[in-house]
Amino acid sequence: MSSFQTSPGTRDILPPHAGRWRALIQVFADGVESAGYQNIIPPLFEDLGVFQRLGDATDVVTKEMYDFMDKGGRHIALRPEHTASVCRAFAQHRPTPPWKVWYSGPNFRYERPQAGRFRQFDQVGIEVLGVDDSQLDVEVISLGWDFYQAIGLSNVSLVINSLGDAGDRGRYIEALGAYFTTHSETLSEQALATLERNPLRVLDSKRPQDASAIAGAPAIGAFLSTDAAAHFAAVCAGLDALNIPYVVNERLVRGLDYYQRTTFEFISGSLDSAQNAVGGGGRYDGLVEDLGGPATPGIGFALGVDRTLLACDAEECFSYGFPALDVFVIDTTGGSYALSITHQLRHSGFSADRAFEGRSMKSQMKSADRSGAQVAVIIGDTEAEESTCTVRNLSTSEQTTIPSTELQSHLVSVLGPRQPRRHTP
Ligand code: AMP
Repeated sequence: MSSFQTSPGTRDILPPHAGRWRALIQVFADGVESAGYQNIIPPLFEDLGVFQRLGDATDVVTKEMYDFMDKGGRHIALRPEHTASVCRAFAQHRPTPPWKVWYSGPNFRYERPQAGRFRQFDQVGIEVLGVDDSQLDVEVISLGWDFYQAIGLSNVSLVINSLGDAGDRGRYIEALGAYFTTHSETLSEQALATLERNPLRVLDSKRPQDASAIAGAPAIGAFLSTDAAAHFAAVCAGLDALNIPYVVNERLVRGLDYYQRTTFEFISGSLDSAQNAVGGGGRYDGLVEDLGGPATPGIGFALGVDRTLLACDAEECFSYGFPALDVFVIDTTGGSYALSITHQLRHSGFSADRAFEGRSMKSQMKSADRSGAQVAVIIGDTEAEESTCTVRNLSTSEQTTIPSTELQSHLVSVLGPRQPRRHTP
């Protein structure tokens, strides 16, 4: 007999934690939908080429991709993030811009699993395609900020930077390359390999050996064009106007290659510093074009659900309790009467669970207490014969027997009105 465990870097999100997870996504959805963002659900896997556009100097592309040949000979990858898929969707379907979308779902990266770093992890995020306005940058950042406030996280800080336009970035990368080459004897082996591929990425190194070279490296600010500098100043002014506190960090380059102009990260002060980024994003004005669409400005962010909840644990906020059931049905007859009573209760909008296997009254009462339900509806032989039911208030232990035709109105008087369960568009 074999027994299996979850694969490294993956985990089961069990109840009640999965309920908390879903509640978190609901808070996010409520916030961004009230700002005009609509839900998009891209596929979990795509042609590898879609994700290669993230940049061949990024770890996500070179080392962490879950890719495979499918049975039709296509080179497929599980998505490592959503932005490339959203841009591919835009290029494919050509919706009318501005296109404001939000998403939630798992991503896959073959990383070294550790606290707050998983191989399957979830993100919620937004993307806006087709708007080149610094006020939108402020809107996007503020929606991320507001989400953390809404779930009660107070120890989150916002770090922002501008990477300039493609030309600024090119000149900056050249200057960085020259600088790190002259300091190559102090760099770690890994940083030297990164330097070959993209000098910008060297700034991401967390190795102590690289710290002094990084500290003396040229900063992007001096390389910004007039336009890019004005855009960044306008973003900062907008955040000031909304009283959103931020820190400018000219070393913030973010892990993916496609960012231009505004980049930002949300950092939790309650998590271990190696995995303290709870979210991040930025402007990416060339990605849609790279994926075969028209030249389209884009901006967005992705927030890590796993890490955000770890930060909530650390700050003891966003606690979650499974909503209490209305009714627990106890049945000692084993007949279809209890079955249809339970069914009707659920259709009338009451949440209802029941016992099975015709266990003893005592054992079913225990289950009713454990369920957290407010009321037990007891069906015994007499009730089944006379089409009645006995309703027991589980907190006061008062009970009364009524005709089953009066059950719904009786429960409304005890528990309050409920909406019948039916889809209303
Ligand atoms: P990125 O797509 O790399 O910009 O990541 C955005 C956010 O997703 C990060 O700030 C993290 O909160 C989260 N994240 C990224 N990679 C992982 C991972 N391997 N495990 C858990 N969370 C992650």
